[in-house]
Amino acid sequence: MTTPLTQAIAAKREELIALTQDLIRIPTLNPPGQDYLAICEYLDKRLKAHGFETQLIRAHGTPGDSAKYPRWNIIARREGTQKGECVHFNSHTDVVEEGQGWTFDPFGGQLHEGKIYGRGACDMKGGLATSIIAAEAFIETYKDFAGAIEISGTADEESGGYGGVAYLAEKGFFNPERVQHVIIPEPLHKDRICLGHRGGWWAEIETKGEIAHGSMPFLGDCAVRHMGAVLSEFETKLFPAMASRTTDMPVVPEGARSSTMNINSIHGGAKEQDDDFDGLPSHCVPDSCRITIDRRFLSEEPLDQVRDEVTGLLEGLRGTRPDFEYTLTELNSVLPSMTDRQAPVVQTVAKAIQDVMGKAPEYVASPGTYDQKHIDRIGKLKNCIAYGPGVLEMAHKPNEWIGVDDMIDSACVMGAALETLLLPRG
Ligand SMILES: [Zn+2]
Repeated sequence: MTTPLTQAIAAKREELIALTQDLIRIPTLNPPGQDYLAICEYLDKRLKAHGFETQLIRAHGTPGDSAKYPRWNIIARREGTQKGECVHFNSHTDVVEEGQGWTFDPFGGQLHEGKIYGRGACDMKGGLATSIIAAEAFIETYKDFAGAIEISGTADEESGGYGGVAYLAEKGFFNPERVQHVIIPEPLHKDRICLGHRGGWWAEIETKGEIAHGSMPFLGDCAVRHMGAVLSEFETKLFPAMASRTTDMPVVPEGARSSTMNINSIHGGAKEQDDDFDGLPSHCVPDSCRITIDRRFLSEEPLDQVRDEVTGLLEGLRGTRPDFEYTLTELNSVLPSMTDRQAPVVQTVAKAIQDVMGKAPEYVASPGTYDQKHIDRIGKLKNCIAYGPGVLEMAHKPNEWIGVDDMIDSACVMGAALETLLLPRG
């Protein structure tokens, strides 16, 4: 399908590439949450030049906010010439650590055979750039549109979004009287509409022991062996039980349609020494062992049940292991979120995908949570989806990339959605 708007978007191909590269080159690593002000100032300058009114908002006092690593966000708004609804594109500006295994510079933004490489290329600076190009092309093509377009760049999504969308939602920026439609350009792929996400429950479990000489372990109590028993309970009972449960949510990839749990870390016994230490260890029975668990759950599983299942196994070990002692500390929890398929933003983007790509969209839900949770629960705004270019499986991987053609197609879909929502009819 070719329209004046899709032509305007296609003409901005080089601009889209340069914008994506610029965003990747600002290393907004989280943790610690660096360069948030730099990326907000970059976006501020660009969007102001395109007629947006902007606000830079620091999420004072949120987790990680400090003089060294302030949590900056930007909201830009461009009013139409007539009254109407507001369409908001929300992208997070933070990226996760680069990790090992890169053959491209993770902050170089190199273009190679139609793909732009770098940390955050798909998750989600490519999506942010796509929404900006779509909005700018729309504004240039239609001088008289109704309502308003907003673009936000928000902090800390990768660590829960508390210094980003949650903070802005608390300040009223996602009030349904102010914003009617939200599209989050996370990398779910250009022909898919993401309706929501699974829930998450994070906890730390510590087993306790008693320190003693390593040559006489029977005089102490080994916390690592207790943790071994915990892990064995998980392996033989919890993992099979979780694998047997599936959801009606259209979660992708397929493996995430069941309940899952990751053991994020394990620490027990003596502290690890620095790399430059070349001495020998001393010999002690460990008196503490800690793991953190990352339990993802389905809309069919109440949070209480998720919690009770783990504590039930731990309590059961008291009966079989003398001196078994543990503590469980909850770190965070997020409930699942699902937008109705009949919601206006879903219907509009579905039609746009059909028109631009010539096929019906696939409806999906995300295995991990994203900022929709805050827009849903704090903002009370239910008309929200994730839709954006990029391959979800590339997120957080080495040699992360985004395809330029995919970004162009996705920008055309976003533009077509703006046409439906913001052009006065008749
Ligand atoms: Zn993301």
